[in-house]
Amino acid sequence: MDTIQEVLATVKRRNPGEPEFLQAVTEVLESIEPVIRSHKKYRDARILDRIVEPERQVVFRVCWLDDRGAVQINRGYRIQFNSAIGPYKGGLRFHPTVCPSILKFLGFEQVFKNSLTTLPMGGAKGGSDFDPKGKSDNEVMHFCQSFMTELFRHIGPDTDVPAGDIGVGGREIGYLFGQYKRLRNEFSGVLTGKGLNWGGSLIRPEATGYGVVYFAQEMLKTRGESIEGKVCTVSGSGNAAQYTVEKLNQLGAKVVTLSDSNGFVYDKDGINEEKLAWAMELKNVRRGRIKEYAEKFGAEYYENQRPWRVKCDCAFPCATQNEVGGEDARSLLGNGCYLVCEGANMPTEPAALEQFLAKKILYGPAKAANAGGVATSGLEMSQNSMRLAWSREEVDQRLHRIMTTIHGNASETAKEYGINGNLFAGANIAGFVKVADAMLDQGLV
Ligand code: NDP
Repeated sequence: MDTIQEVLATVKRRNPGEPEFLQAVTEVLESIEPVIRSHKKYRDARILDRIVEPERQVVFRVCWLDDRGAVQINRGYRIQFNSAIGPYKGGLRFHPTVCPSILKFLGFEQVFKNSLTTLPMGGAKGGSDFDPKGKSDNEVMHFCQSFMTELFRHIGPDTDVPAGDIGVGGREIGYLFGQYKRLRNEFSGVLTGKGLNWGGSLIRPEATGYGVVYFAQEMLKTRGESIEGKVCTVSGSGNAAQYTVEKLNQLGAKVVTLSDSNGFVYDKDGINEEKLAWAMELKNVRRGRIKEYAEKFGAEYYENQRPWRVKCDCAFPCATQNEVGGEDARSLLGNGCYLVCEGANMPTEPAALEQFLAKKILYGPAKAANAGGVATSGLEMSQNSMRLAWSREEVDQRLHRIMTTIHGNASETAKEYGINGNLFAGANIAGFVKVADAMLDQGLV
């Protein structure tokens, strides 16, 4: 068995130029070191060397015609990382920055996140460097149809069930599903995040954001507090951010920021229900920029900046990876922020993570805090298999229970390993053990 540092050196050598993947692997492996040290069975079976290697990686060409009739070429990917505990499951991201490093980091994280949900789902991630921004509906449809014309042969309801992520919402899932159905001549639960009229689950659109807030509530409970009355900053203005704000409002918190890749808005009066509805229409229907919110409601707008210098009690990064740096963490902590709960995947850079852990603030790591999205995708799969639909209340209750269980599991595991309150390590260890044991049971595959 190689030591953790030796495994990391091998990952670095075998995956050159993939900083995000190396960052995710380093964070997980270093935090599960106590488990590896105390369990010879994992060392003998070289579980670490195996778990950092995706089971399968598919890369393909996607050609499509734009509205002018010109030929466009993009690259498509599906990284099927680990299927030890269930069919591969994880989102598709359409964004110009998509590359193997980003998809491998996301796929790797997904393995442990899915394990934490308590549902039988393996980990995967996929997507394309296609940018839906500025494209017509027609162009998005042509791209999705071409993308699925290759992807369909690698997925299936019992093999691999993709969902949405950045740049892939209800519209894209619809076009992808339509093309899969046409190619396979079957109506199945091959994708999640589907429309309600054709196999989708109630609460799936809300699930990531709602789950993030349920997780934050659990963290606050450990200090005898609740979210009511807290001033909160949220980054992003897409799916994860929108429903984080909605649930925070419902529970009596005051949200003062939203952002996109051009800048952030600061609304000191709070982004109430009515303003949020306007922002959702702006982002989901008109597909405009968050700057317009500031113009509409007289809020402040900060071009090319992130919202972490704004004074708050609780911060919810819900945009993208590495959006909270060391300086941002210093500002947050300096301004009295004592809860950070991650809606986005790996939004916190190592230099910020170190500070949050050292200060022992309430820190909800992404793979636990944002697992409500994939957990509800799992519930969508269950409903599809049973060919029935649960009510809004039923799905929401199940989501709430799952988030409470994930928090309890991460918290208990941290206690067991003598790192009380460190949900980062607790979640990594709990997620890892279940997958590692399944890999042992299934032999060398
Ligand atoms: P959306 O596409 O709906 O929204 C993404 C938001 O993040 C937009 O406001 C976008 O701004 C902003 N953003 C994207 N890239 C950057 C960047 N480089 N810098 C600043 N802002 C950026 O995606 P989601 O809300 O679904 O995803 C957001 C995060 O949540 C991601 O990390 C995703 O992996 C994670 N997540 C999502 C889940 C889901 O169910 N949707 C489940 C679990 C995690 P702009 O419009 O300018 O691009």
